[in-house]
Amino acid sequence: MSKLVPALLEWFATNARKMPWRETHDPYAVWVSEIMLQQTQVKTVIPYWERWMRDLPDVAALAAAPAAKVLKLWEGLGYYSRARNLHAAAQLIVEKFGGHFPRAFSDILELPGVGRYTAGAIASIAYNDPAPILDGNVMRVLTRVFGIDGDPRGKATNQQLWALAAQLVEHAANQPHSAKTRACSHLNQSLMELGALVCTPRQPACPACPVRQLCVAQRDQRTQELPALAPRGATTARRFVAFVITRGNRHLVQQRPSGVVNAGLWEFPNLELKAAATPPAERVALPTGRIVRATTSLGSLTHSITRYRITVEVFRAELLEDSPQPDEHWVSATELEELAFTSAHRKIVARLG
Ligand code: SF4
Repeated sequence: MSKLVPALLEWFATNARKMPWRETHDPYAVWVSEIMLQQTQVKTVIPYWERWMRDLPDVAALAAAPAAKVLKLWEGLGYYSRARNLHAAAQLIVEKFGGHFPRAFSDILELPGVGRYTAGAIASIAYNDPAPILDGNVMRVLTRVFGIDGDPRGKATNQQLWALAAQLVEHAANQPHSAKTRACSHLNQSLMELGALVCTPRQPACPACPVRQLCVAQRDQRTQELPALAPRGATTARRFVAFVITRGNRHLVQQRPSGVVNAGLWEFPNLELKAAATPPAERVALPTGRIVRATTSLGSLTHSITRYRITVEVFRAELLEDSPQPDEHWVSATELEELAFTSAHRKIVARLG
């Protein structure tokens, strides 16, 4: 610890990448960045974060924003429950904390969508508190540096890693001038940054690593074995067929109901196909009760989300029987751009352009 923490802090001081949220300690800005960065790469997040902060610069603005605006700002980032949780949490902060982002770790942890990692990241980065963090990057660095054999997602090893992360950030807090140098914030970020830039999953750049002299995996040539992650479950293939139905210059779209994945987002009429089905038949009955007939193919597209590998076959189609639904709308090309679509169906919109 006594050598590791200074080595990490020194490396971070000169190697940290520039990111717009690193220019501020505003807990709201840090919170938004941390939620966006879950499951999403930095370079993708930057323009989303900048647009979000311009349109919704503080908790009050987010709490007061219509849900449609929040979803539109999130469109394309995926995992939309993150946006819904941000919105709900902002409203809770207004109600419970008068619009001021909570200061106590336990209060941050109670916000919807905030787990132990995110609460630790906000507390350390915004407030320089000695709160530990453990994400995939940090797990990889710690299992390698300390030569830890167990599955980092397994309960016992995971607890061991959280304890190590806590010791490291507490050690940073005890460095001279740790408040002025924001040592807790920088120590946590150095672990994430090292995992992202140097201690990468397949080919860690050990010769360039600031902690190579202290690293068990490097010493014992075990960097390819660690971390010893248990294999994840296999992916599941799902097939859909989607229909672009046009009247004049307007297209038929529908909004996904509440309580389902991607609730509130927009999509073209569609249905899921059984594994061996051959789309589309002469008359296709949609779940909404409409009967359609495919006319021309617009090709197929693929999309991956969590463990699903989704294929969507897209057709222009005509309505044979109409039974209007409350969540279906005929919209112009301009309105298509304004609505928040699921990622797969946004690709269909792009094909219409
Ligand atoms: S020496 Fe290699 S394995 Fe060890 S922390 Fe550095 S990059 Fe990772």
